[in-house]
Amino acid sequence: KEKLIEIKDLKRYFKIDRKNILKAVDGLTFDIFKGETFGLVGESGCGKSTAGRTIMGLYQATGGEVVFKGASVHEKKSKKELKELTRRMQMIFQDPYASLNPRMTVKDIIAEGIDIHGLAKTKEEREERVLELLETVGLNADHGNRYPHEFSGGQRQRIGIARALAVNPDFIVADEPISALDVSIQAQVVNLLQELQHERGLTYLFIAHDLSMVKHISDRVGVMYLGNMVEIATSEELYEDPLHPYTKALLSAIPIPDPQVERSRERIILEGDVPSPINPPSGCPFRTRCPMAMEICSQVKPDFIEHKKDHWVACHLFEGKN
Ligand code: SF4
Ligand code: MG
Repeated sequence: KEKLIEIKDLKRYFKIDRKNILKAVDGLTFDIFKGETFGLVGESGCGKSTAGRTIMGLYQATGGEVVFKGASVHEKKSKKELKELTRRMQMIFQDPYASLNPRMTVKDIIAEGIDIHGLAKTKEEREERVLELLETVGLNADHGNRYPHEFSGGQRQRIGIARALAVNPDFIVADEPISALDVSIQAQVVNLLQELQHERGLTYLFIAHDLSMVKHISDRVGVMYLGNMVEIATSEELYEDPLHPYTKALLSAIPIPDPQVERSRERIILEGDVPSPINPPSGCPFRTRCPMAMEICSQVKPDFIEHKKDHWVACHLFEGKN
């Protein structure tokens, strides 16, 4: 497996005031392989969007680094290098409407990147490319002359996808791209993303707040809690043999269609709320809600270890047992 992105102890803090620092991302280490979909899940406020933006270089890192195709994302670059980097890494948003300029036609929205990066030599070539992109995402030439407000949520997401594709990226951060859509539309957008991935060899970081949403689309899944990665495994492995108490709790909250299985299984209810990322708990970030917490958990932050092959976890229950 070829690594496209290496994330090493990545941190992103926000200074709130003189005394308080919000630790949105507090030391993530993982790789994203070329051509895979890496699902990143966690409750809202766990830092997954900030992680996505910092990985892309949209936010400066407070610490650690991101290596994309062998080059550091956060290192100072020439204008030309920076432009090339922003072409290769694109983003799709939860609310495409907020990210589409309401005064621009869809055609111009899609062509913006083509113009910035000089990807079409003539006006005809530009037109041709836009038309191709519209068709690729299931829209047509007529749609190109209209404005964002004339479209449904699902169509707007298609426009957002076309805009991202326009510059031929390698890597796309999809930040909750289907969370705001009707369930019937969600599958269509997921299918489109998967088709595009196969055709173009794209790599995705797919962010979601719900484990059931990333199950089918992801090759591997990472679970975040309070700015930290608590577990990473292949999609099947994570659902079959979750290790971290937080992952177990998240999985136990997903309803199972079979009523007999549903009735017999144990549901893990977590006490309390997610603590604030401002002055987070000492030791394990999950300890204030963990049903398994031990003495050591309040004192020592668990390391992120490979407990089984390709299955990583940060929890004292598994330390020294692999
Ligand atoms: Fe729970 Fe301790 Fe493991 Fe944290 S390290 S998840 S508190 S058992
Ligand atoms: Mg978010």
